[in-house]
Amino acid sequence: MNHPVVIIGGGLAGLSTSILLARANVPVILIEKDTYPRQKVCGEYISIESEKFVNQLGVETSTLPHIHTLHLSSFSGKMARLPLSPGGFGISRQYLDHQLSIIAKQAGVELLTGIRVKSIEDNHVQLLSGETIEASLVLGAYGRSNPLSGLKIPKNQKQYIGIKYHVRSSAPADVIEMHVFKGGYCGFSKVENEVYCLCYLGTADDLKAYRGDIANYEAGILHQNPHLRARLLEVEKITPPITTSQFHFQVHRGDHRGHLLLGDATGFIPPITGNGMSLAFRSAAQTAPQIIDFYQGRKTKADIFRQQDAYINHYAKGRIRSGVFLQNLLLKQNYISDNLLFFGLNHFPFMGDILTGKAVGAPIMYPQ
Ligand SMILES: Cc1cc2nc3c(=O)[nH]c(=O)nc-3n(C[C@H](O)[C@H](O)[C@H](O)COP(=O)(O)OP(=O)(O)OC[C@H]3O[C@@H](n4cnc5c(N)ncnc54)[C@H](O)[C@@H]3O)c2cc1C
Repeated sequence: MNHPVVIIGGGLAGLSTSILLARANVPVILIEKDTYPRQKVCGEYISIESEKFVNQLGVETSTLPHIHTLHLSSFSGKMARLPLSPGGFGISRQYLDHQLSIIAKQAGVELLTGIRVKSIEDNHVQLLSGETIEASLVLGAYGRSNPLSGLKIPKNQKQYIGIKYHVRSSAPADVIEMHVFKGGYCGFSKVENEVYCLCYLGTADDLKAYRGDIANYEAGILHQNPHLRARLLEVEKITPPITTSQFHFQVHRGDHRGHLLLGDATGFIPPITGNGMSLAFRSAAQTAPQIIDFYQGRKTKADIFRQQDAYINHYAKGRIRSGVFLQNLLLKQNYISDNLLFFGLNHFPFMGDILTGKAVGAPIMYPQ
Protein backbone atom coordinates (compact mmCIF):
# COMPACT_ATOMS: atom_id res chain seq x y z
CA MET A 1 0.00 0.00 0.00
CA ASN A 2 1.29 3.43 -0.93
CA HIS A 3 -0.40 5.55 1.66
CA PRO A 4 -0.10 5.63 5.45
CA VAL A 5 -2.86 5.00 7.94
CA VAL A 6 -4.02 8.41 9.15
CA ILE A 7 -5.36 8.78 12.70
CA ILE A 8 -7.26 11.90 13.68
CA GLY A 9 -6.97 12.72 17.36
CA GLY A 10 -4.05 12.16 19.69
CA GLY A 11 -5.91 11.25 22.88
CA LEU A 12 -5.52 7.80 24.39
CA ALA A 13 -7.28 5.86 21.62
CA GLY A 14 -5.33 7.56 18.82
CA LEU A 15 -1.93 7.52 20.53
CA SER A 16 -2.11 3.89 21.66
CA THR A 17 -3.33 2.66 18.26
CA SER A 18 -0.58 4.61 16.51
CA ILE A 19 2.08 3.00 18.74
CA LEU A 20 0.78 -0.54 18.07
CA LEU A 21 0.68 0.08 14.32
CA ALA A 22 4.10 1.70 14.12
CA ARG A 23 5.62 -1.19 16.09
CA ALA A 24 4.21 -3.54 13.44
CA ASN A 25 5.86 -1.41 10.70
CA VAL A 26 2.61 0.11 9.46
CA PRO A 27 3.30 3.73 8.43
CA VAL A 28 1.11 6.06 10.53
CA ILE A 29 0.38 9.76 10.56
CA LEU A 30 -1.35 11.01 13.72
CA ILE A 31 -2.93 14.46 13.57
CA GLU A 32 -3.70 16.25 16.85
CA LYS A 33 -5.11 19.78 17.12
CA ASP A 34 -3.40 20.49 20.47
CA THR A 35 0.21 20.17 21.60
CA TYR A 36 1.63 18.09 24.48
CA PRO A 37 1.73 18.29 27.42
CA ARG A 38 -1.77 19.61 27.94
CA GLN A 39 -4.45 19.48 30.61
CA LYS A 40 -7.68 17.65 29.90
CA VAL A 41 -10.96 17.41 31.80
CA CYS A 42 -10.86 13.86 33.15
CA GLY A 43 -11.12 12.21 36.57
CA GLU A 44 -7.70 10.60 35.90
CA TYR A 45 -8.62 7.29 37.53
CA ILE A 46 -7.96 4.27 35.29
CA SER A 47 -9.57 0.94 36.09
CA ILE A 48 -7.05 -1.84 36.58
CA GLU A 49 -8.14 -3.67 33.42
CA SER A 50 -5.85 -1.29 31.50
CA GLU A 51 -2.71 -1.51 33.61
CA LYS A 52 -0.90 -4.31 31.80
CA PHE A 53 -1.76 -2.77 28.43
CA VAL A 54 -0.50 0.66 29.54
CA ASN A 55 2.75 -1.05 30.63
CA GLN A 56 3.01 -2.81 27.26
CA LEU A 57 2.70 0.56 25.56
CA GLY A 58 5.72 1.65 27.60
CA VAL A 59 4.29 3.67 30.50
CA GLU A 60 5.50 2.55 33.94
CA THR A 61 2.75 2.46 36.57
CA SER A 62 4.36 0.79 39.60
CA THR A 63 5.06 4.07 41.42
CA LEU A 64 1.60 5.55 40.79
CA PRO A 65 -1.11 5.59 43.47
CA HIS A 66 -3.11 2.36 43.33
CA ILE A 67 -6.68 2.72 44.52
CA HIS A 68 -8.61 -0.02 46.35
CA THR A 69 -11.41 1.77 48.21
CA LEU A 70 -14.40 3.88 47.18
CA HIS A 71 -15.93 6.46 49.51
CA LEU A 72 -19.34 7.19 48.04
CA SER A 73 -21.48 9.97 49.47
CA SER A 74 -25.02 11.00 48.55
CA PHE A 75 -26.36 14.51 47.99
CA SER A 76 -27.87 14.43 51.50
CA GLY A 77 -24.61 13.37 53.14
CA LYS A 78 -25.03 9.59 53.48
CA MET A 79 -21.72 7.75 53.19
CA ALA A 80 -20.69 4.23 52.14
CA ARG A 81 -17.08 3.03 52.32
CA LEU A 82 -16.70 0.17 49.84
CA PRO A 83 -13.80 -2.06 48.82
CA LEU A 84 -13.09 -1.42 45.18
CA SER A 85 -12.22 -4.69 43.62
CA PRO A 86 -10.17 -4.95 41.44
CA GLY A 87 -9.59 -1.16 41.70
CA GLY A 88 -7.46 1.10 39.58
CA PHE A 89 -4.66 3.66 39.54
CA GLY A 90 -4.31 7.42 39.24
CA ILE A 91 -2.35 9.21 36.51
CA SER A 92 -2.79 12.71 35.10
CA ARG A 93 -3.69 13.14 31.44
CA GLN A 94 -1.05 15.83 31.20
CA TYR A 95 1.57 13.18 32.02
CA LEU A 96 -0.01 10.11 30.36
CA ASP A 97 -0.81 11.66 26.98
CA HIS A 98 2.59 13.35 26.88
CA GLN A 99 4.40 10.07 27.66
CA LEU A 100 2.43 8.25 24.97
CA SER A 101 3.21 10.99 22.46
CA ILE A 102 6.94 10.55 23.16
CA ILE A 103 6.65 6.76 22.82
CA ALA A 104 4.70 7.18 19.57
CA LYS A 105 7.41 9.36 18.05
CA GLN A 106 10.10 6.89 19.16
CA ALA A 107 8.13 4.06 17.54
CA GLY A 108 8.15 5.96 14.23
CA VAL A 109 4.72 7.60 14.19
CA GLU A 110 4.65 10.84 12.20
CA LEU A 111 3.01 13.03 14.81
CA LEU A 112 1.54 16.29 13.55
CA THR A 113 0.54 18.45 16.52
CA GLY A 114 -1.19 21.82 16.59
CA ILE A 115 -2.99 20.86 13.35
CA ARG A 116 -6.76 20.60 13.06
CA VAL A 117 -8.59 18.34 10.64
CA LYS A 118 -11.44 20.10 8.88
CA SER A 119 -13.13 17.22 7.08
CA ILE A 120 -12.79 13.60 6.01
CA GLU A 121 -13.99 12.23 2.68
CA ASP A 122 -13.31 8.50 2.35
CA ASN A 123 -9.51 8.27 2.36
CA HIS A 124 -8.88 12.02 2.07
CA VAL A 125 -8.23 14.06 5.18
CA GLN A 126 -8.50 17.80 4.73
CA LEU A 127 -6.65 20.03 7.19
CA LEU A 128 -7.83 23.45 8.29
CA SER A 129 -4.80 24.87 6.44
CA GLY A 130 -6.32 23.59 3.16
CA GLU A 131 -3.79 20.79 2.66
CA THR A 132 -5.14 17.28 1.95
CA ILE A 133 -3.52 14.03 3.12
CA GLU A 134 -4.32 10.77 1.38
CA ALA A 135 -4.56 7.64 3.50
CA SER A 136 -4.92 3.91 2.97
CA LEU A 137 -7.34 3.99 5.91
CA VAL A 138 -8.60 6.81 8.16
CA LEU A 139 -9.25 6.31 11.88
CA GLY A 140 -11.43 8.77 13.78
CA ALA A 141 -10.06 8.96 17.32
CA TYR A 142 -11.28 12.54 17.73
CA GLY A 143 -13.21 12.08 20.98
CA ARG A 144 -16.87 12.37 21.90
CA SER A 145 -19.55 14.38 20.08
CA ASN A 146 -17.12 15.59 17.44
CA PRO A 147 -18.51 17.42 14.37
CA LEU A 148 -16.30 15.17 12.19
CA SER A 149 -18.52 12.22 13.12
CA GLY A 150 -21.69 13.93 11.97
CA LEU A 151 -23.25 13.20 15.36
CA LYS A 152 -25.90 15.68 16.47
CA ILE A 153 -26.73 15.83 20.17
CA PRO A 154 -30.52 15.94 20.61
CA LYS A 155 -31.59 19.45 21.63
CA ASN A 156 -33.97 18.23 24.36
CA GLN A 157 -31.23 16.28 26.18
CA LYS A 158 -29.96 17.56 29.55
CA GLN A 159 -26.78 19.57 29.03
CA TYR A 160 -23.86 18.70 31.29
CA ILE A 161 -20.58 20.45 31.95
CA GLY A 162 -17.33 18.91 33.21
CA ILE A 163 -14.90 20.83 35.44
CA LYS A 164 -11.46 19.78 36.69
CA TYR A 165 -8.70 21.08 38.98
CA HIS A 166 -5.44 19.70 40.20
CA VAL A 167 -5.15 20.18 43.93
CA ARG A 168 -2.99 19.37 46.95
CA SER A 169 -4.56 17.41 49.79
CA SER A 170 -3.77 15.19 52.74
CA ALA A 171 -6.34 12.55 51.71
CA PRO A 172 -5.27 8.87 51.62
CA ALA A 173 -3.66 7.79 48.35
CA ASP A 174 -5.56 4.51 47.96
CA VAL A 175 -9.10 5.94 48.09
CA ILE A 176 -11.27 7.38 45.36
CA GLU A 177 -14.07 9.62 46.61
CA MET A 178 -17.29 10.00 44.65
CA HIS A 179 -19.62 12.67 45.98
CA VAL A 180 -23.08 13.07 44.50
CA PHE A 181 -24.62 16.55 44.51
CA LYS A 182 -27.70 18.14 42.95
CA GLY A 183 -27.57 17.30 39.24
CA GLY A 184 -24.08 15.80 39.27
CA TYR A 185 -21.17 14.09 40.99
CA CYS A 186 -17.55 14.83 41.85
CA GLY A 187 -14.63 12.37 41.76
CA PHE A 188 -11.50 12.94 43.80
CA SER A 189 -8.35 10.79 43.85
CA LYS A 190 -4.58 10.99 43.76
CA VAL A 191 -2.37 11.04 40.66
CA GLU A 192 1.44 11.29 40.40
CA ASN A 193 3.78 13.74 42.21
CA GLU A 194 1.65 14.36 45.33
CA VAL A 195 -1.09 15.89 43.18
CA TYR A 196 -4.81 15.05 43.39
CA CYS A 197 -7.45 15.36 40.71
CA LEU A 198 -10.82 16.88 41.56
CA CYS A 199 -13.24 16.59 38.68
CA TYR A 200 -16.99 16.91 38.48
CA LEU A 201 -19.94 16.73 36.17
CA GLY A 202 -22.86 19.09 36.75
CA THR A 203 -25.69 20.57 34.74
CA ALA A 204 -25.18 23.59 32.51
CA ASP A 205 -28.47 25.05 33.80
CA ASP A 206 -27.28 25.07 37.43
CA LEU A 207 -24.02 26.77 36.45
CA LYS A 208 -25.99 29.30 34.39
CA ALA A 209 -28.12 30.06 37.46
CA TYR A 210 -24.86 31.27 39.06
CA ARG A 211 -24.07 33.30 35.92
CA GLY A 212 -21.25 30.89 35.06
CA ASP A 213 -19.35 31.76 38.26
CA ILE A 214 -17.75 28.42 39.21
CA ALA A 215 -16.83 29.41 42.78
CA ASN A 216 -20.38 30.56 43.53
CA TYR A 217 -21.84 27.47 41.86
CA GLU A 218 -19.65 25.23 44.02
CA ALA A 219 -20.60 27.14 47.18
CA GLY A 220 -24.30 27.10 46.28
CA ILE A 221 -24.72 23.57 44.90
CA LEU A 222 -21.73 21.32 45.63
CA HIS A 223 -21.45 22.46 49.25
CA GLN A 224 -24.93 21.06 49.95
CA ASN A 225 -23.26 17.66 50.27
CA PRO A 226 -21.35 18.04 53.58
CA HIS A 227 -18.62 15.53 52.61
CA LEU A 228 -17.96 17.34 49.36
CA ARG A 229 -18.03 20.70 51.11
CA ALA A 230 -15.40 19.44 53.59
CA ARG A 231 -13.22 18.18 50.73
CA LEU A 232 -13.54 21.39 48.70
CA LEU A 233 -12.58 23.45 51.74
CA GLU A 234 -9.67 21.14 52.61
CA VAL A 235 -7.89 21.11 49.23
CA GLU A 236 -5.50 23.72 47.87
CA LYS A 237 -6.22 24.36 44.20
CA ILE A 238 -2.99 24.47 42.20
CA THR A 239 -4.43 24.86 38.70
CA PRO A 240 -7.30 27.03 37.47
CA PRO A 241 -10.49 25.12 36.57
CA ILE A 242 -10.72 23.76 33.05
CA THR A 243 -14.12 22.95 31.57
CA THR A 244 -15.74 20.86 28.88
CA SER A 245 -19.25 20.25 27.53
CA GLN A 246 -21.08 18.33 24.77
CA PHE A 247 -22.00 15.10 26.55
CA HIS A 248 -24.02 12.39 24.88
CA PHE A 249 -24.01 9.08 26.71
CA GLN A 250 -24.69 6.74 23.84
CA VAL A 251 -23.10 4.47 21.33
CA HIS A 252 -22.45 6.33 18.14
CA ARG A 253 -24.68 4.70 15.59
CA GLY A 254 -24.16 7.37 12.93
CA ASP A 255 -22.76 6.87 9.47
CA HIS A 256 -19.02 6.15 9.66
CA ARG A 257 -18.37 8.37 6.64
CA GLY A 258 -15.87 5.84 5.37
CA HIS A 259 -13.61 5.92 8.41
CA LEU A 260 -13.22 3.70 11.46
CA LEU A 261 -14.03 5.05 14.89
CA LEU A 262 -11.99 4.57 18.06
CA GLY A 263 -12.44 5.40 21.75
CA ASP A 264 -15.02 8.03 22.73
CA ALA A 265 -15.86 8.56 19.06
CA THR A 266 -17.65 5.18 19.17
CA GLY A 267 -19.66 6.24 22.22
CA PHE A 268 -19.15 7.98 25.53
CA ILE A 269 -19.48 6.13 28.84
CA PRO A 270 -20.60 8.21 31.87
CA PRO A 271 -17.52 9.34 33.81
CA ILE A 272 -18.95 7.91 37.05
CA THR A 273 -17.62 4.51 35.95
CA GLY A 274 -14.02 5.74 35.67
CA ASN A 275 -13.92 3.69 32.51
CA GLY A 276 -13.73 5.88 29.41
CA MET A 277 -9.94 5.64 29.26
CA SER A 278 -10.09 1.84 29.48
CA LEU A 279 -12.63 1.72 26.68
CA ALA A 280 -10.32 3.92 24.60
CA PHE A 281 -7.39 1.54 25.23
CA ARG A 282 -9.60 -1.47 24.59
CA SER A 283 -10.75 -0.15 21.23
CA ALA A 284 -7.08 0.36 20.28
CA ALA A 285 -6.13 -3.16 21.37
CA GLN A 286 -8.98 -4.74 19.47
CA THR A 287 -8.67 -2.63 16.29
CA ALA A 288 -4.88 -2.48 15.79
CA PRO A 289 -4.41 -6.19 14.87
CA GLN A 290 -7.12 -5.90 12.23
CA ILE A 291 -5.51 -2.84 10.70
CA ILE A 292 -2.17 -4.62 10.63
CA ASP A 293 -3.87 -7.51 8.78
CA PHE A 294 -5.48 -5.02 6.40
CA TYR A 295 -2.17 -3.31 5.71
CA GLN A 296 -0.49 -6.66 5.07
CA GLY A 297 -3.27 -7.69 2.69
CA ARG A 298 -4.95 -10.32 4.88
CA LYS A 299 -8.17 -8.36 5.46
CA THR A 300 -10.35 -5.98 3.52
CA LYS A 301 -11.72 -2.69 4.73
CA ALA A 302 -15.18 -4.30 4.85
CA ASP A 303 -13.82 -7.02 7.22
CA ILE A 304 -12.52 -4.38 9.63
CA PHE A 305 -15.81 -2.45 9.60
CA ARG A 306 -17.76 -5.64 10.27
CA GLN A 307 -15.55 -6.53 13.22
CA GLN A 308 -15.80 -3.02 14.55
CA ASP A 309 -19.59 -3.09 14.40
CA ALA A 310 -19.53 -6.38 16.28
CA TYR A 311 -17.26 -4.88 18.98
CA ILE A 312 -19.49 -1.82 19.35
CA ASN A 313 -22.75 -3.78 19.40
CA HIS A 314 -21.63 -6.69 21.56
CA TYR A 315 -19.23 -5.02 23.93
CA ALA A 316 -19.04 -1.20 24.02
CA LYS A 317 -22.81 -0.79 23.96
CA GLY A 318 -23.25 -3.02 27.04
CA ARG A 319 -20.55 -1.16 28.99
CA ILE A 320 -22.08 2.22 28.15
CA ARG A 321 -25.55 1.00 29.14
CA SER A 322 -24.21 -0.20 32.51
CA GLY A 323 -22.60 3.21 32.98
CA VAL A 324 -25.84 5.02 32.20
CA PHE A 325 -27.66 2.74 34.67
CA LEU A 326 -25.14 3.57 37.42
CA GLN A 327 -25.25 7.28 36.68
CA ASN A 328 -29.07 7.35 36.74
CA LEU A 329 -29.15 5.34 39.96
CA LEU A 330 -26.87 7.78 41.76
CA LEU A 331 -28.43 10.90 40.32
CA LYS A 332 -31.94 9.79 41.29
CA GLN A 333 -32.11 12.16 44.18
CA ASN A 334 -35.13 11.49 46.27
CA TYR A 335 -35.41 10.65 49.92
CA ILE A 336 -36.48 7.02 49.43
CA SER A 337 -33.86 6.03 46.84
CA ASP A 338 -31.17 7.82 48.83
CA ASN A 339 -32.02 6.02 52.07
CA LEU A 340 -32.61 2.61 50.50
CA LEU A 341 -29.45 2.65 48.40
CA PHE A 342 -27.12 3.72 51.18
CA PHE A 343 -28.78 1.40 53.72
CA GLY A 344 -28.22 -1.47 51.28
CA LEU A 345 -24.62 -0.51 50.55
CA ASN A 346 -23.78 -0.24 54.25
CA HIS A 347 -25.51 -3.48 55.33
CA PHE A 348 -25.18 -5.83 52.37
CA PRO A 349 -21.59 -5.76 51.05
CA PHE A 350 -22.55 -7.76 47.95
CA MET A 351 -24.53 -4.70 46.78
CA GLY A 352 -21.33 -2.68 46.69
CA ASP A 353 -19.62 -5.44 44.71
CA ILE A 354 -22.47 -5.48 42.19
CA LEU A 355 -22.40 -1.69 41.88
CA THR A 356 -18.64 -1.31 41.48
CA GLY A 357 -18.41 -4.49 39.36
CA LYS A 358 -20.72 -2.88 36.80
CA ALA A 359 -17.94 -0.47 35.96
CA VAL A 360 -15.07 -2.88 35.26
CA GLY A 361 -14.13 -5.11 32.35
CA ALA A 362 -11.76 -8.06 31.99
CA PRO A 363 -8.04 -7.17 31.63
CA ILE A 364 -7.15 -5.88 28.17
CA MET A 365 -5.09 -8.49 26.38
CA TYR A 366 -2.67 -7.60 23.60
CA PRO A 367 -0.15 -10.07 22.20
CA GLN A 368 3.43 -9.15 23.27
C1 LIG B 1 -15.66 15.02 33.33
C2 LIG B 1 -15.01 13.76 32.83
C3 LIG B 1 -14.40 12.90 33.73
C4 LIG B 1 -13.83 11.71 33.28
N1 LIG B 1 -13.22 10.89 34.16
C5 LIG B 1 -12.68 9.73 33.75
C6 LIG B 1 -12.00 8.87 34.66
O1 LIG B 1 -11.81 9.16 35.84
N2 LIG B 1 -11.54 7.68 34.18
C7 LIG B 1 -11.70 7.30 32.87
O2 LIG B 1 -11.26 6.20 32.52
N3 LIG B 1 -12.28 8.13 31.97
C8 LIG B 1 -12.77 9.32 32.38
N4 LIG B 1 -13.33 10.18 31.47
C9 LIG B 1 -13.43 9.75 30.06
C10 LIG B 1 -12.09 9.87 29.33
O3 LIG B 1 -11.55 11.15 29.49
C11 LIG B 1 -12.31 9.57 27.84
O4 LIG B 1 -13.10 8.42 27.72
C12 LIG B 1 -11.01 9.40 27.10
O5 LIG B 1 -10.29 10.58 27.10
C13 LIG B 1 -11.28 8.93 25.66
O6 LIG B 1 -10.11 8.95 24.93
P1 LIG B 1 -10.17 9.22 23.36
O7 LIG B 1 -8.78 9.08 22.87
O8 LIG B 1 -11.25 8.45 22.74
O9 LIG B 1 -10.64 10.74 23.25
P2 LIG B 1 -9.90 12.06 23.72
O10 LIG B 1 -8.99 11.77 24.85
O11 LIG B 1 -10.97 13.07 23.89
O12 LIG B 1 -8.98 12.45 22.49
C14 LIG B 1 -9.51 13.00 21.32
C15 LIG B 1 -8.41 13.86 20.70
O13 LIG B 1 -8.82 14.29 19.40
C16 LIG B 1 -8.35 15.62 19.21
N5 LIG B 1 -9.18 16.22 18.15
C17 LIG B 1 -10.52 16.45 18.20
N6 LIG B 1 -10.93 17.01 17.05
C18 LIG B 1 -9.84 17.12 16.25
C19 LIG B 1 -9.62 17.64 14.94
N7 LIG B 1 -10.64 18.14 14.21
N8 LIG B 1 -8.38 17.60 14.42
C20 LIG B 1 -7.33 17.09 15.17
N9 LIG B 1 -7.48 16.61 16.42
C21 LIG B 1 -8.72 16.61 16.94
C22 LIG B 1 -8.55 16.27 20.58
O14 LIG B 1 -7.75 17.41 20.75
C23 LIG B 1 -8.14 15.12 21.51
O15 LIG B 1 -6.77 15.15 21.85
C24 LIG B 1 -13.87 11.39 31.89
C25 LIG B 1 -14.42 12.28 30.97
C26 LIG B 1 -14.98 13.46 31.43
C27 LIG B 1 -15.55 14.42 30.44
